[in-house]
Amino acid sequence: MEPQRSPLLEVRGNVQLKRPPVKAPSRLPLSGTRLKRGPEQMEDALEPEKKRTRGLDTATKIATSRPRAPVLATVPQTQGQTTAPKVPKKTGPRCSTAVATVLKNQKPGPAAPAQKPAAAAPMLGGRKPTKRPAWDLKGQLCDLNAELKCCRERTQTLDQENQQLQDRLREAQQQAQSLGAERRTLEGELARVQAQAEQGQRELGNLRAHVLELEEQLGTQESLVQELRKEQLELQEERRGLATRLEEQERRLQASEAALSGSRAEVASLRQEATTQAALLVEQGERLHGLEMERRRLHNQLQELKGNIRVFCRVRPVLPGEPTPPPGFLLFPSGPGGPSDPPTRLSLSRSDERRGTLSGAPAPPTRHDFSFDRVFPPASGQDEVFEEIAMLVQSALDGYPVCIFAYGQTGSGKTFTMEGGPGGDPQVEGLIPRALRHLFSVAQELGGQGWTYSFVASYVEIYNETVRDLLATGTRKGQGGECEIRRAGPGSEELTVTNARYVPVSCEKEVEALLHLARQNRAVARTAQNERSSRSHSVFQLQISGEHAGRGLQCGAPLSLVDLAGSERLDPGLTLGPGERERLRETQAINSSLSTLGLVIMALSNKESHVPYRNSKLTYLLQNSLGGSAKMLMFVNISPLEENVSESLNSLRFASKVQLPPSPGPVRTLGWL
Ligand code: ADP
Ligand code: MG
Repeated sequence: MEPQRSPLLEVRGNVQLKRPPVKAPSRLPLSGTRLKRGPEQMEDALEPEKKRTRGLDTATKIATSRPRAPVLATVPQTQGQTTAPKVPKKTGPRCSTAVATVLKNQKPGPAAPAQKPAAAAPMLGGRKPTKRPAWDLKGQLCDLNAELKCCRERTQTLDQENQQLQDRLREAQQQAQSLGAERRTLEGELARVQAQAEQGQRELGNLRAHVLELEEQLGTQESLVQELRKEQLELQEERRGLATRLEEQERRLQASEAALSGSRAEVASLRQEATTQAALLVEQGERLHGLEMERRRLHNQLQELKGNIRVFCRVRPVLPGEPTPPPGFLLFPSGPGGPSDPPTRLSLSRSDERRGTLSGAPAPPTRHDFSFDRVFPPASGQDEVFEEIAMLVQSALDGYPVCIFAYGQTGSGKTFTMEGGPGGDPQVEGLIPRALRHLFSVAQELGGQGWTYSFVASYVEIYNETVRDLLATGTRKGQGGECEIRRAGPGSEELTVTNARYVPVSCEKEVEALLHLARQNRAVARTAQNERSSRSHSVFQLQISGEHAGRGLQCGAPLSLVDLAGSERLDPGLTLGPGERERLRETQAINSSLSTLGLVIMALSNKESHVPYRNSKLTYLLQNSLGGSAKMLMFVNISPLEENVSESLNSLRFASKVQLPPSPGPVRTLGWL
């Protein structure tokens, strides 16, 4: 089976057939339909080739603009077919056979073979050749020559066509080469463009993400912008408000400046005035100081006129559950000034059952009249009592020793007078808290005149001639550790109690705490020893120190508030058991110290050269609070009960002995006054 060949290959075969020019015999046996073709037929035969080339051109053009694999594959196939060396080889032998056939036909031979060429003679010019008789050799030759000529012409035409086709082939090859190069370039470019496109895609992706991000940011920024706008509006509003306020302030400032300039002038004049006032103030300060000194002097003079030793009598009320005394048992006669005068006298009636009248009727009660610096009936309140001694407290601040005693039998109201009633009721507050409050307040007032005061408190009890600290704390609390009274230093007049606490105080609260502590200490002792508190002297002392730094003045004095032991005596008729003997010793000690106190006071009143301070611990401890310019006040506390009349009389008699009429002599003054 012969492979199908393209028309172009056929042409090429023809071309190669022509290339070694063959001297064709006049009767070229162009067998088959191919040799019978005329130029038109050749042209027709070539037509598909041309069309194909045109198609190639079109394909090339398409490939140039848009490379496609099948088209690109067509070009080499065409080239391969065009340059295929096998085609001429196949064509060649076929042509030489044809020529040989022609030459063979020229020889004379049998008639039958000779007729074959005639039968195969070509039709020239489309006319059917007239069949020459076999003998018409000349005519046949002529026909052959004509045919040869025709063939030569056709060959020539074909050569030309072949030449043209080769030119076109070369052209097409060149074009194909350039197209290949262009394709490669384009492929490279395509790859580059694709890479760029990928890069672009990636960038696009990135850009999209970035755009999304930016859009998000934009959203945030827009909301922020809206917030800021809102804020801006608010701020603008605020700014307008502030501007209004500023204007207002400026107006005020202007007004103030105007006022200020007016005030400056005023200040200048006030300064002038202040200078004058300061000078005046200094002068007045001087005067005030002079007056204060004068006040102190006069106050002291008044106190001395009243007497450096004073005795007040206080009768406590009948307590619930106690028998009401008979009418007229205690009387408080009015003074010379009438009932409006504070009472100074007391009358006590005592019915002596042992005495009787001749008729056998009971003797009328004996009246005992007493007169003191002041008498406080049962209804007198604590405040009323304190009023009388407030002046003495002032003396203590002025630098005079002050000593206040409470004397009387047990249960007569000594502790009530000195410390106060139970329950912490301010109405029944005693002399000690009241005196200290007064001291602190007056000291503060004197601070305005340049005086500064300090206070140091101590609280001891003297029982059976032993001294015990009532402010002891910790392990010493309630133990009754022994204390001794000693001089503060060699050559010093000041006395101190060893092992006792000296507590600086500056306010009532601190004093209250100390009194509370003393009560606790006494309560502990009371359980240990029967009712020891009433059998001992309680001595509260406050050392007052004042200083006027501006003038270099100093003053100091002790204020002593003494709750004395019960002054009652043992009934001499009692039979003494072991307990009573102890009690007797206690009582003797108390009586001894109380009588020593009486003796000391009397010696001081009589200005005796020897004052027996050392005869008892109490007087020894109070040595510096008695005598000299010291002010002494004794409360004689009396029970309102008839059953205590004997002890009441004893107390009143003791107090009367202590009391002396006020000294009319010259007033003594302190060294620094
Ligand atoms: P003393 O200390 O002399 O032994 P107290 O001060 O303990 O006596 O008084 C004995 C009782 O009498 C206490 O209950 C006290 O409250 C009461 N008392 C004393 N004086 C007064 C007074 N002036 N007003 C009211 N009660 C008083
Ligand atoms: Mg008491």
